[in-house]
Amino acid sequence: NAPIAELDPEVAERIDAELDRQRRGLEMIASENHTAQAVMQAQGSVLTNKYAEGYPGRRYYGGCEEVDVIETLAIDRLKQLFGAEFANVQPHSGAQANASAMHALIKPGDTILGLNLAHGGHLTHGMRLNFSGRLYNIVPYGVDPETHRVDMAEVERLAREHRPQLIIAGWSAYPRQLDFAEFRRIADEVGAYLMVDMAHFAGLVAAGLHPSPVPHAHVTTSTTHKTLGGPRGGIILSNDAEIAKKINSAVFPGQQGGPLEHVIAGKAVAFKIAASDAFAERQQRTLAGSRILAERLTRPDVAERGISVLTGGTDVHLVLVDLRDSVLDGQAAEDLLAEVEITVNRNAVPFDPRPPMVTSGLRIGTPALATRGFGEEAFAEVADIIAETLIAGTAEGGAEPATVSALRERVTALADAHPLYPELAPIGAR
Ligand code: PLP
Repeated sequence: NAPIAELDPEVAERIDAELDRQRRGLEMIASENHTAQAVMQAQGSVLTNKYAEGYPGRRYYGGCEEVDVIETLAIDRLKQLFGAEFANVQPHSGAQANASAMHALIKPGDTILGLNLAHGGHLTHGMRLNFSGRLYNIVPYGVDPETHRVDMAEVERLAREHRPQLIIAGWSAYPRQLDFAEFRRIADEVGAYLMVDMAHFAGLVAAGLHPSPVPHAHVTTSTTHKTLGGPRGGIILSNDAEIAKKINSAVFPGQQGGPLEHVIAGKAVAFKIAASDAFAERQQRTLAGSRILAERLTRPDVAERGISVLTGGTDVHLVLVDLRDSVLDGQAAEDLLAEVEITVNRNAVPFDPRPPMVTSGLRIGTPALATRGFGEEAFAEVADIIAETLIAGTAEGGAEPATVSALRERVTALADAHPLYPELAPIGAR
C-alpha cells in the first residue's frame, strides 16, 4: 500500500505536471470544467472497489447497503435539481447515456433526425463511424447558411418527409438556445420520440439561466462534467414511467455491467453543489463571461482581420469564432493561443471550406474560468488577450515572439490572481 509517488513515480509525476498545467494556464475548452475537491475525494474513494450490478434495493451482489444509500441520494438530488420524475445516474459517460436512451426508445434501422456533426451536433447524434450512424438511419438537419441558427421550418420539413422514430435536439458547438416546445410539437406531429441532449448547457438549466428541456422531451440526457461541474459521467431523465422502465433496463443490463459507484458518489456531491446559490452565481458569471468574449471578439480591429463570431453573439457558455475569412485557420489559432497558455479547441464551422483536422473555427468556453472565480473584469482581460493574440497571428503561423511573451505574462497574472485548488497538495507530497 505504498503511496503512488513511491509505487509509480512515472504516473505520479505526470499527474502533478497536469495539476501544474491546469494552474498555470487558462482552461477555455467549452466542455471542460474544474470539478470540486469534494467530488474528486468521492471519486478517489474505496467505492471504486464495489460491484453493484442492478439498482438500489435490487442488486445482484451483496454488501450494497452503503452504495444503495449513495446512489439513492444521487437519484433524488438529480430529480429535484431538474424537476424530473425519473433519473438514472449510472451511465459511465454522455455517449453511453445516449446509446442507452436510443436502445430504450427505438430499434436498429429506425430513422433519427439529429443535428449534423459539422453544424455543431455530437458524434452520438448520427456520425457515420459512431454506433448511432452504424445502427440507425440518420437524417441530419443543419443550420441556416445565413443566420447559422437551427431553422425549425427545415426541421419540420425533414420530419414530415422522413417520418423519424426519434428526433434529437442538443449540441456540442452551438451558441444559442433551442426551441424545445417546437421540437416536441414536430415530434408529436410525426409520431417520433424527442430526446434532448443537454450535456453542454445542463449547468445553466440547473441554475435557471436556460430554458429546461425536461418538461418537453420524452427523454433528456446529459453529461455531468461540463457546465454541471461534476465528475466525468452521464445521466438520463424522464417524466414517463413506462419510458423510465425501458431506460433502466437499457442501461443495465442493456449497455453496462457494474455501475461506477465512486463516480455516482461524485455525481451526488456535484448535484448538491449545483442546487446551491453559489453555483447559480457561478453560472451567471459563466454567461457574463461568454457575452463579454463575444463583444470583444466582434471589435472593429478584430473584424478587420476577417475574424467574426457565429450568430454575432451567444446565449450560452461558449462562443464560436469564425475564421473562414482569416489568414489563421483553426489549427494555427489553437496553437497560437496555446503559446500564450490559453487552451481552446479548434472546431469546424458550418459550411467549413477547410478539412476537419484543420477547420476554420474555434470553440471558446467560460465554465472553467467561472469556476476559478473569474468575474467580469477578468473575463474582459482574457477576451482582450484572445483578441490581441488572434490579431497578432500571421499567415505563416505563429506571431512575433515579443508579442507572444507579453500576452503570456498577462495570462500568468490572471492565473496567479485566481488560484486553482489552492489547498490541494501535489500527489507526490501525499
Ligand atoms: N453529448 C454532447 C452534446 C456532448 O457534447 C458530449 C461530449 O462532448 C457527449 C454527449 C458525450 O459525452 P462523453 O464524452 O462523456 O461520452
